[in-house]
Amino acid sequence: MTFKFIPPYIRDITPYPPGKPIEEVERELGIKNSVKIASNENPLGTSPRAIQAIRKALKSLNRYPDGSAFYLKNKLAALHKVSPGSLVIGNGSNELIELIIRTFIQPGDEAIISDPSFLIYSITVKASGGKSVIIRLKHDYSYDVRGIIKAIGKRTRLIFISNPNNPTGTILSKKDYAWLLQRVPEHVVVIDDAAYREFVQSRDYPDGIDYLRDKAGNLIVLRTFSKLYGLAGLRVGYGVTTEELAGYLDRVRQPFNVNTLAQTAAIAALEDKAFVKRTLANNREGLDYLYRALERMNISFLPTQANFFLVRVSPFMSAKQAFESLLRKGVIVRDMTSYGLGDYIRINVGTPSENRKFIKEFGEILKTRL
Ligand SMILES: *Cc1c(COP(=O)(O)O)cnc(C)c1O
Repeated sequence: MTFKFIPPYIRDITPYPPGKPIEEVERELGIKNSVKIASNENPLGTSPRAIQAIRKALKSLNRYPDGSAFYLKNKLAALHKVSPGSLVIGNGSNELIELIIRTFIQPGDEAIISDPSFLIYSITVKASGGKSVIIRLKHDYSYDVRGIIKAIGKRTRLIFISNPNNPTGTILSKKDYAWLLQRVPEHVVVIDDAAYREFVQSRDYPDGIDYLRDKAGNLIVLRTFSKLYGLAGLRVGYGVTTEELAGYLDRVRQPFNVNTLAQTAAIAALEDKAFVKRTLANNREGLDYLYRALERMNISFLPTQANFFLVRVSPFMSAKQAFESLLRKGVIVRDMTSYGLGDYIRINVGTPSENRKFIKEFGEILKTRL
């Protein structure tokens, strides 16, 4: 053991299983024109306005980025009707998750995390020496808000809510959200990770930012440019919270955590109403198509409020088998075994032709299993 001083809680971490790049998969399997519907990315590409803005900004890469993200914060503040001081910009919202955990969790402190939910929460809590207190989702895959409140103890510092929840696509209702916030003690911080907020169609969805304005002084709402705006590769997300909490997160972050291209692209993407509209329409129509096609195949799935959903591949095959068979046919999906869901794969809505390819190939695999 050369590096025996590495703390055991770091040694024990199971690394996040990332999806493979398409090029690598194609090279390994000797296939072409494969489609990736595994990482909830925007299938229509990147906001064209963002691309235009990035081109212009390329000339100023000799300069450090604006460490205060002045223009982006002002733009977001106006959009959400909050003060620029209540915003924190991150290198993706994943960086904000890390900053929050570094700010609040010391070894032995606890974060309440639902399961199945986004794997990054517990991995990052572990990296800080914290403990994840896991609350199972209920049978219908909704959040067990009572269970969460009951689990709050002396060492509880954070409660993570992914709303809509990745990977189930389910949401917390307005009633449950308000119920939860009312019962969380002031010193415990609720993280409302709203990465897929823009895709939600339900009227019963609570927008965390409204609750922040009303009262909650212990709430951080996370949003991202990775999904709706197609900027996952550039890394930019943000948190909306109180000025006090934003001030703490600002102390922990690197001064230049968000690069120039990301800041510029994010501002332009917010103005790209046409791209947003196209993306949302593609998502709605894609979901309709996929739901109907799967129903015809007698395959069950979890209806979603996001741009992805869980497809039950059992009893015909395991998630691993589905993943591997689809991969060989050039369709990259997410095997949910690492989330403890060995009967499910997760797919995101693709372009119409990507959706059709998935249905066609999945249908052929099914035929060999019936
Ligand atoms: C995709 C996703 C994010 C976005 O992370 P970024 O770091 O902003 O790319 C955040 N939370 C959840 C639950 C996600 O699925």
